Amino acid sequence: MRDAPACLYTGAMSATPRLFVKADLMMDGPVALDTEQGNYLFRVLRLEQGAPVRVFNGRHGEWRAVIEQKLGGKTGLLRVTDFLRAQGDLPDLHLLFAPLKKTRTDFVVEKATELGVTVIQPVITERTQTHRVNVSRLNKVALEAAEQTERLTTPQVLDPQPLFQSLQSWPKIRALYFADEAGSDDHKPWGGENGRATTFPKVLEGKTPGPSAILIGPEGGFSESERTLLREQEFVTPVGLGPRILRAETAAVAALTIWQSRLGDWQQ
Ligand code: SAH
Repeated sequence: MRDAPACLYTGAMSATPRLFVKADLMMDGPVALDTEQGNYLFRVLRLEQGAPVRVFNGRHGEWRAVIEQKLGGKTGLLRVTDFLRAQGDLPDLHLLFAPLKKTRTDFVVEKATELGVTVIQPVITERTQTHRVNVSRLNKVALEAAEQTERLTTPQVLDPQPLFQSLQSWPKIRALYFADEAGSDDHKPWGGENGRATTFPKVLEGKTPGPSAILIGPEGGFSESERTLLREQEFVTPVGLGPRILRAETAAVAALTIWQSRLGDWQQ
């Protein structure tokens, strides 16, 4: 990539449509539009040649481009004109969650994208009710949320995996915070019925940022054997999310927010 000129990013740019593209991005470079992008720019937004668009590809930052060619109203070509923002890395935060019903799963993926998660791993637990997950559709939900939320990368939604398999292949340097609606009774291997696990903000006090993941259970919660297995892992810390039982999707949003505000990019 050619040296990027000074950053031109201004508030006014945020009204300019923003597209995730596959092409390499460089000054004066061409960007071919696929039919979906062409449809969006030419039919939905009714843009004409010369109109500005913002583009990002997850690798080369964000650039301003203009519509150079409209081909049959369905596809076309952009031309990159200005560098807007350098790539920069997001905090290294993954989300593992048990798939829910379709619209709730979409909600989790959209909100996790807005909250800056880099990888989304659906996990199948004992009480998971939805086993079929349309990963390519979820990746699309993530892509659209990334376009809308000014991210420079899209999170990766992975194929679902049984929980025990995720734990087996876990890289030990990644801390796994598991949102546990059970208590913290040390005499019970699975936490016990009384109270809740130590709250997430408290657990994160004094911790330094590093690769992390958050695990949220299904509507039916985790089983005792899953809790026991999780608590046996040295990289796992059970965390509580307050005195009330939250729906899984609320728990995901709450936990991600706490992590971002304590260890992530909500601190600056
Ligand atoms: N049916 C279960 C609740 C499951 S809530 C019960 O009644 O106990 C779905 C998931 O959200 C849980 O598995 C957990 O990961 C998370 N969660 C909800 N409320 C929580 C809380 N207060 N503390 C920690 N995790 C919570």
